[in-house]
Amino acid sequence: MKHEVSNKKITVLGMANSGIAAARLLSEAGAELFMSDSGRAENLATAIKEASGMNIAYETDGHTDRALEADFVVTSPGIPETSDVIKSVIDSKLPLYSELEAASWFATGKITAITGSNGKTTCTSLLGEMMKLSFDDVRVGGNIGTPFSSLVIKGDSADTNYILELSSFQLKWISDFHPSLATVLNVTPDHLDWHTDIASYIGAKERIVENMTSEDCFVYNFDDKESTRIASLSKSRKLSFSVKEELEEGCWLEGSELRLRIDSVDEKILDIKDLKLRGMHNVANAAACMILTTTGGASTIRSGSALLSFEGVEHRLETVRVLDKVCYVNDSKSTNVDSLAVALDSFDEPLVLIAGGRDKGGDFNSLTELAAKKVKRLILIGEADEKIAKAFWTISDVHFATSMKAAVETAIMISEAGEVVLLSPGCASFDMFKNYEERGNVFKNEVNSYGADE
Ligand code: ADP
Repeated sequence: MKHEVSNKKITVLGMANSGIAAARLLSEAGAELFMSDSGRAENLATAIKEASGMNIAYETDGHTDRALEADFVVTSPGIPETSDVIKSVIDSKLPLYSELEAASWFATGKITAITGSNGKTTCTSLLGEMMKLSFDDVRVGGNIGTPFSSLVIKGDSADTNYILELSSFQLKWISDFHPSLATVLNVTPDHLDWHTDIASYIGAKERIVENMTSEDCFVYNFDDKESTRIASLSKSRKLSFSVKEELEEGCWLEGSELRLRIDSVDEKILDIKDLKLRGMHNVANAAACMILTTTGGASTIRSGSALLSFEGVEHRLETVRVLDKVCYVNDSKSTNVDSLAVALDSFDEPLVLIAGGRDKGGDFNSLTELAAKKVKRLILIGEADEKIAKAFWTISDVHFATSMKAAVETAIMISEAGEVVLLSPGCASFDMFKNYEERGNVFKNEVNSYGADE
């Protein structure tokens, strides 16, 4: 292992899932741990129980200088680089690593890393399904579900396939993290509330290729400028996907067929009309995954069949039900302007759009034209309601709702047969909900509380 942890003093910042998972891994490897969280003790009861159970000293309700008494610091993705505690760690010149980096010191299996502004969870889940049809030991996690630390703690072998979703928050503090396959699906401004600026956000995404060598493969989006630029920084083999251009190698759309050409593989995978996933962005996601699974050594046929049966992930353009000939779709995970744009683009039916929430500094004006074309009626919720109303000024049928219950009530009242009611907020949820899952679940419960199914 490049980083010796035995008998080292390590502070883990953040006591949520990934912090606890990292602490467990490092403590089992013989490190002397200290955990520190700015949250109130009464909200951290489970974490405190876990830390105490491992005999790990901790502090809550704020970070003190005790957190800096360490050989190095491991941080959780929830802690922004703009926070005082991260600034103090940097000022005191202590090495700072993300939970992802620390976990990678313990992994001997093959790592496939997926990042991007949008589509990470969809691709990570889809790729997991594809790889499981060809390999026995496939472990899916990272930024979704199980933290990487919990995936490696059970031990692994060279035959283990890790499929990891990575956020910029985890990539920001890597050192030796080395995937053998990786992709940056797309890069659009996001998380400007976590990073100091856009350069830091993009810089973090770039780090994914930093330790990759000529033995590895980087998969990029031919249709995305930043993803293509990051490919140019990579020393590894590069393969690309496109839904706009025919390529010589990689995966692309030819008419309505997905075409894959890599080394001796040259095949039409499927007709995109047969996909259960909705929208061209999901064709791009599928193309990225077909390259990753094929270069990862999986059977193309089995991967194609996993793709055909993949229904998508909850809260991402998820069909809830059809009621009175109106289809209700839950896209609560749409938390930025770009995911709202692809959602609008995914429908030919007139839309009743429910949008709004906590604004992340997105430029809704860039969607004025698209919204004018796709959205017939607009229902606005949350703090960003006025901002979106202004940006979508061409829409005359606009309603304001103070709760999801009221928004759904309005949608039911104003929608007409053949229309789609789409919840795609384009904003974070924290002004009204605990998280996007709660927002999506409340929407679904409200929608399901009306009348009988068709
Ligand atoms: P992430 O994990 O990066 O947030 P998800 O797969 O959870 O990505 O999808 C988040 C939102 O982005 C959803 O609203 C989804 O419909 C949309 N989305 C999925 N894939 C893409 C893509 N390739 N480009 C743009 N938006 C996408």
